Amino acid sequence: MIYDYLIVGAGYSGCVLAERITSQLGKKVLIVDKRNHIAGNAYDEYNEEGILVHRYGPHLFHTKMKKVFDYLSNFTKWREYSHKVLAVIEDKKVPVPFNLNSIDIFFSPKQAEKLTNLLLSKYKLETKIPILKLLETSDKELKFLADFIYEKIFLGYNLKQWGVKPEDLDRTVSGRVPVFVSRDDRYFQDPYQAVPLFGYTKMFKNMINNKNINVLLNTDYKDILNTIKFDKIIYTGPIDEYYDYTFGNLPYRSLNFQYETKEKEFFQELTQVNYPNDNDFTRITEFKHITGQKHHNTTIAYEFPEEFIIGKNDPYYPIPNEENHNKFAKYIELAEKEKNVFFTGRLANYKYYNMDETVGVALQLFEKTISKV
Ligand SMILES: Cc1cc2nc3c(=O)[nH]c(=O)nc-3n(C[C@H](O)[C@H](O)[C@H](O)COP(=O)(O)OP(=O)(O)OC[C@H]3O[C@@H](n4cnc5c(N)ncnc54)[C@H](O)[C@@H]3O)c2cc1C
Repeated sequence: MIYDYLIVGAGYSGCVLAERITSQLGKKVLIVDKRNHIAGNAYDEYNEEGILVHRYGPHLFHTKMKKVFDYLSNFTKWREYSHKVLAVIEDKKVPVPFNLNSIDIFFSPKQAEKLTNLLLSKYKLETKIPILKLLETSDKELKFLADFIYEKIFLGYNLKQWGVKPEDLDRTVSGRVPVFVSRDDRYFQDPYQAVPLFGYTKMFKNMINNKNINVLLNTDYKDILNTIKFDKIIYTGPIDEYYDYTFGNLPYRSLNFQYETKEKEFFQELTQVNYPNDNDFTRITEFKHITGQKHHNTTIAYEFPEEFIIGKNDPYYPIPNEENHNKFAKYIELAEKEKNVFFTGRLANYKYYNMDETVGVALQLFEKTISKV
């Protein structure tokens, strides 16, 4: 058989494009993934105890893009879910992003009122302020609060997660978890916040359920290039790997997950508790809070950040800084010269995309380019 497209990677990028190309253009597609499953990093599975867990860390869907939500709704029903996070600081648990409720937990009522009024005198309610911006304040009391939040919430977490201080990373990274002048404890404020009712993997199965889509797992695409006939490639793996690391490798952070099943119904009060300052792990996730599954036991995952080493672990988070950006730009120059290869996704675009952004970018690639070639 001759395929119109060989798609490398069965994550969101690969599966959305496979779905579009087959359902809208009636073409034939082969998806190849070197892992033993579809769904990429969003993969979820029932573990030995029968509890639905996310193999690559908690995945919480949230978006402002109605178009993306509507598109995915073709393949799943949803369970409404608003994510909330607590951080353990000096034996207290405070909401993260750090907000007005966090101030109340940390400080005496009098001091909390003073700091809250101070924040509200400078910022409107519901403002999100990147911590590095707040640290620039010339107001002495606000600087006290900014230093406090930086030390207790950001510094330790960042050192563990990224191996460097917040100021040594691109500001987009520390800006992702702002200080929130609000009493809203939700981690995200997007209008659409939900998880697939029967899990992510089931949603992916529905997405690629088309007779013109074949899937080959446990296979590196390089091993089949000479045996499969195809017209074009959509590549969603790491762009530096595609070009055999010609300009050197693009660095990533990786994670090691340690799962434990506890003989109790629940382990902690909500899905995610962060440990910014003590312990080697950054956070503990309890999956039943996300899925709503009823089970007499519960599974949790400890997350240990580590350096990404090719061949040893998986590339998870691109590290945005000037040097890496410049290296990536050289790869893009090569990619732009390709006629029959399209690059998309978190690894090929070396961007910290959330799931909704990944879907949005893939839909756009289809509409603007692939549907027209
Ligand atoms: C720990 C973690 C937590 C996250 N949490 C959230 C969250 O809560 N909310 C959110 O919106 N987003 C979250 N994300 C982001 C989300 O996972 C990504 O946006 C999404 O998975 C990107 O999809 P993708 O298809 O681009 O890449 P991927 O899902 O990485 O898929 C790429 C696929 O390509 C395959 N591949 C690579 N090279 C080859 C090769 N040579 N041959 C064959 N196959 C290959 C890989 O095996 C992989 O399956 C999280 C990411 C991580 C790492």
